[in-house]
Amino acid sequence: MSTIEKVKCLIIGSGPAGFTAAIYASRANMFPVLYQGIQPGGQLTTTTDVDNFPGYAKGVNGTQMMVDLEEQAKRFGTDVRSGMITKVDFTGPVHKVWVDNKLEIHSDTIVISTGASARYLGLDSEQHYLSNGGGVSACAVCDGFFYKGQETVIVGAGDSACEEASYLANICTKVTMLVRRDEFRASKIMADRVRGIENIEILHKQN
Ligand SMILES: Cc1cc2nc3c(=O)[nH]c(=O)nc-3n(C[C@H](O)[C@H](O)[C@H](O)COP(=O)(O)OP(=O)(O)OC[C@H]3O[C@@H](n4cnc5c(N)ncnc54)[C@H](O)[C@@H]3O)c2cc1C
Repeated sequence: MSTIEKVKCLIIGSGPAGFTAAIYASRANMFPVLYQGIQPGGQLTTTTDVDNFPGYAKGVNGTQMMVDLEEQAKRFGTDVRSGMITKVDFTGPVHKVWVDNKLEIHSDTIVISTGASARYLGLDSEQHYLSNGGGVSACAVCDGFFYKGQETVIVGAGDSACEEASYLANICTKVTMLVRRDEFRASKIMADRVRGIENIEILHKQN
């Protein structure tokens, strides 16, 4: 019979959210166990400079920032482990997870911090410019600064697109939103907000 490990707090994911949770949980004597998944350190390990994180006056290399966060979490006792959570069962009073389809862990508390990933258009040119820092981005607050005083284009018309458009409109001379339907997918309040911003032009797909 396989043994079941019992823990107080289990954190799934080793990005900024996972390590932040780990720092707080370990300082609260919850003895967190953190599983890193297939991308130890999360998305920021794929970038060079992170300029918008408070406390790094000169910016910080994304990988270095995640190494720092991991060290900070370990300093307070977080048990950082390699492995992927492959199955969960949250139906009963005990939260159950399985690591790499083998080890079963029961935990009083689970923090799910498995992140998200940007959905790109899938064009070859897009991937080319993305990997060369050539003007394609999926994060206005991360990269908008580089396009200060320039014209930018946003593809999409959901809440996130409207949020990003409002942000860019403050720092760019003009923002053009490309909308593939005749109406916005965003909530009405968000759509109305971008419609009311003078330097945002909205282009709908012509049928
Ligand atoms: C190229 C690039 C540049 C960026 N630049 C900036 C920037 O300059 N400034 C900024 O603010 N933001 C930036 N971002 C966005 C930023 O990286 C994300 O907002 C942030 O990483 C989200 O943190 P997170 O902890 O929620 O998730 P993530 O960083 O996505 O981490 C998710 C974690 O969950 C783990 N995981 C997933 N599934 C499982 C599982 N089943 N079991 C165990 N673990 C699992 C993964 O291995 C990973 O460790 C950038 C993103 C990219 C891709």
